[in-house]
Amino acid sequence: MLIGGELVHARSGEFDLSVSPATEEVIGRVPRGTADDVDRAVKAADAAWPDWFALTPLARGRAMRDFGQALLSRSEEILRVEVADTGNTITPMRGDVGFAVDSLDYYAGITHEMKGQTIPSTHENIHMTIREPYGVVARIAPFNHPLMFAVARTAAALAAGNAVIVKPPETSPLSAMILSEIARDALPPGVFNIVTGDGRTVGNAIVQHPLIKRIAFIGSPQTGRAIQRAAADVAVKHISLELGGKNPFVAFPDVDPGEIADAAVRGMNFAWQGQSCGSTSRLLVHTDIYEEVLARVVEKVQAIRVGLPQLPETGMGPLNSRSQLEKVLSFFASATAEGTRLMTGGKRPDGEMFAKGFWVEPTVYADVEPDMRVWREEVFGPILSVGKWTTFEEAVEKANGTEYGLTAAIWTNNINDALKMVRRIRSGHTWINGSSAHFIGVPFGGMKSSGVEREEGIEEMLSYAETKTINIMLAKR
Ligand code: NAD
Repeated sequence: MLIGGELVHARSGEFDLSVSPATEEVIGRVPRGTADDVDRAVKAADAAWPDWFALTPLARGRAMRDFGQALLSRSEEILRVEVADTGNTITPMRGDVGFAVDSLDYYAGITHEMKGQTIPSTHENIHMTIREPYGVVARIAPFNHPLMFAVARTAAALAAGNAVIVKPPETSPLSAMILSEIARDALPPGVFNIVTGDGRTVGNAIVQHPLIKRIAFIGSPQTGRAIQRAAADVAVKHISLELGGKNPFVAFPDVDPGEIADAAVRGMNFAWQGQSCGSTSRLLVHTDIYEEVLARVVEKVQAIRVGLPQLPETGMGPLNSRSQLEKVLSFFASATAEGTRLMTGGKRPDGEMFAKGFWVEPTVYADVEPDMRVWREEVFGPILSVGKWTTFEEAVEKANGTEYGLTAAIWTNNINDALKMVRRIRSGHTWINGSSAHFIGVPFGGMKSSGVEREEGIEEMLSYAETKTINIMLAKR
């Protein structure tokens, strides 16, 4: 772990093992952090942030860019570890370090935007605001893109002048060991700290630490709510939540069915087994083109090669963990029981190499209706549910028929229909004739149970600072 600029063991002296999702073999271990370790990290961060904040914005930005360059210099090593530990396939995973570095560059370039305002409230006085960092802030990360989230989603906090504590996910923690070395060498001691361990111990100690007022969480809605509750027990805290999604992809009949099928399969992120919050896991197709789109989608999904994530030709690897496997298997059972039409998949793959590991087949269910579990609940796995619509209102109602509101994709050549639908769908992030892609500087985040606040844009950086108001009383006192 990285605490106060040093690589340290947990006070417990114990380790957690990480297994390969493909073979279940142990591939590494990380220190089993404790509340004591969190406290050590908080003290180090608290000592470090005033000097970090006192740097000029340009100097802070320069240090962040150097951090990015150091990451790039070890990107192949990070890639190998990350692929082995997450089960995500190697070709698209090459983008993760690049996206992290781009995020560092983006926030490094806008550090001067940490400015305040002057407000002309009275003519005879001067009223103004300045922004100050919280000081010590924390990032709790999920398992699907551990390194990318640890870096890309702390860049805004660093740019604002905070020192950060990162808690990596317990089922894919290994890349954090490399990140510890890089951050130790690239940033001043205590500015970037990493404490590994499980959610109940390390996560909870972060949430309940009195010196951490600002917590940023990416994970499931259940954990997000537990964090809000636990934090509220000890103090008033600022918590941003990026949670799950059950994202609709609405296809109008004026678009070529082949294009829709391509985009819908791409939007599912099968390359990381559908384990992506933004996956468009509910495909809603107009009745006129329903069967044709469905046939093409099935053809494409059947062509996905399931195999070792390290091989460039692999289109889908194993799920991340045993609990992920059990969850997906439970959706196979409920989808069948609820009367969906299984088009492909719906089981573990056959063959000797799949006997061990957390493998399932990429799966498509058709004729899925809003009262079915596989329509309403997030699988966070490689299951695409397909349903149909006839009227605009029906499409809106079905699209909104879950507690989630993270992303939505709308496919039509009629901009009126597209924008009318954007207005009606309760999702924080929409693509018109696109799916899945994130763009640097463009805010991302969810409505409804998918979260609060937005990340990835300038507002993320501003959310890591508090406003201080100053009234200069020039008028007679
Ligand atoms: P999770 O909620 O199980 O765990 C996320 C992190 O929280 C882990 O580091 C875990 O150790 C920690 N944690 C668990 N219990 C905790 C507690 N009581 N206190 C503090 N920390 C605790 O989520 P996961 O299974 O790792 O990730 C999958 C979920 O993440 C899905 O719902 C997915 O949609 C969501 N996700 C959202 C986004 C987004 O940007 N909206 C991105 C990726 C993943």
